[in-house]
Amino acid sequence: MTDTNDSGQRKGEFGIITKLLGGFCHNCGICPYADKRPNSAFGKLMRWHRTWCPGQAAHTKIYGEKPLSR
Ligand code: SF4
Repeated sequence: MTDTNDSGQRKGEFGIITKLLGGFCHNCGICPYADKRPNSAFGKLMRWHRTWCPGQAAHTKIYGEKPLSR
């Protein structure tokens, strides 16, 4: 993950939809919660979800990979 100043500068390079989705994912606590229970059905579901979630994709573009509990 990049630092605040760097990500703030990089955020200007992206469109409004990418910024909104990335900002949503950045503040979303669902995957960090699910990642604390990696062997549960919810943990597995959310691990699959991250492979296609547009929020995760936008987050990765703007901030880098979203940090989880591990
Ligand atoms: S990948 Fe989706 S569910 Fe998971 S933290 Fe991001 S927006 Fe929330």
